[in-house]
Amino acid sequence: MLPSAPKPPRLRLRVTATAEDIVRGGHPWLFAGSIREQNRDGEVGELAVLYDRKDRFLAIGLYDPGSPLRVRILHTGKPVTLDDTWWEQRLQTALERRRGLFDAQTDGHRWIHGESDGWPGLVLDRYGSALVLKLYTAAWLPQLGDLTSRIQATLRPDRIILRLSRNIAETARGKFGVNDGQPLTGSAEPAEAVFCETGIQLHADVIRGQKTGFFLDQRENRRRVESLARERTVLNAFSFSGGFSLYAARGGARSVTDLDSSAQALESGRRNFALNASDRAIAGCPHESLRADAFAWLAQNNTRLFDLVILDPPSLAKRESEREGAIHAYAALAGGGLNALRPGGILVAASCSAHVSADEFFGAVRTAVRKSGHPMTELATIGHPPDHPAGFPEAQYLKCIYFRV
Ligand code: SAH
Repeated sequence: MLPSAPKPPRLRLRVTATAEDIVRGGHPWLFAGSIREQNRDGEVGELAVLYDRKDRFLAIGLYDPGSPLRVRILHTGKPVTLDDTWWEQRLQTALERRRGLFDAQTDGHRWIHGESDGWPGLVLDRYGSALVLKLYTAAWLPQLGDLTSRIQATLRPDRIILRLSRNIAETARGKFGVNDGQPLTGSAEPAEAVFCETGIQLHADVIRGQKTGFFLDQRENRRRVESLARERTVLNAFSFSGGFSLYAARGGARSVTDLDSSAQALESGRRNFALNASDRAIAGCPHESLRADAFAWLAQNNTRLFDLVILDPPSLAKRESEREGAIHAYAALAGGGLNALRPGGILVAASCSAHVSADEFFGAVRTAVRKSGHPMTELATIGHPPDHPAGFPEAQYLKCIYFRV
């Protein structure tokens, strides 16, 4: 018999003093430039142990040689062994945090929200009996088997679908033999999962849809829109699968208009309305689909007016260099939305760009409101829902502001 290759020594990193303070303060990211020294090259997904300037244990994390975000921290503080019990505990902590948040009327929500739940670069969403595991770093791929077994044993879904961020899909296929959209347990069919949110039926394309198939993070804003919609004509710009429109309809809106540039999104909005045909308010509310570029449509529109306008565009700043442009775009969009409002109308403006801070976004919308010349009352500003906690500054991507003319 050939002797097996000796196990390489633990991957050990010494980090800069600045990074040491940041990591000790609980921040989950270590960038490549913060590594002073390492004992050897590391493999993707290996556990790396970080040492402080006095060579004491600092933290342990997932190593990724292919990313400038070189280590995603799993644990800081006293030395620990990441054994089965430790991982099980980590999962239970995330589940426990959501305990009591949702009743039987809501079986679509986030179970694990990445770094802020101690699972850096990993998201686990529930859509009824289906789970979607989305990975944003290749560093989870070596332990995908263990991860799947653990989730399957604990949550017992009918199936777990794997989704991969674009930047890791090739590594996943080439090195680990897994593909975006493949089932890890259960079946790939049907592509759509049907689930329930506060009693509203929704479908999500869990195999190919954006993010994990639906924007679960906007649930609290949808509920608020429901409470504001009575007797109002509603424009839902960037409507995707019509989430806000369904809530507005249930809340007694006079009519709802979906505006999206994607025919597929509008179609999925129509299907969601059809799914709720047994709800009298939803079935009775006139529902229109408009296919157009929402920026252009709002900039040109001077014929149609609404009593409630919702603006929830995709991220307008995917990188830091796009931040300034995005702030202008949010202001322009808000201006267009305000122009489409009747006296007494309500504007709901949301942003999911992590690179634009809440202050910058709210500032842009408030400026647009001042420029519009309408006297307006600011009703509320809203951040993250409890199943999408934001545990560090870069995690705070979601914000929404409400105004009434
Ligand atoms: N508000 C939605 C989520 C929006 S996702 C919800 O609550 O579920 C972003 C949507 O904007 C997608 O459906 C996408 O097709 C659409 N979109 C992207 N660019 C657009 C544009 N320029 N004009 C109109 N719609 C656009």
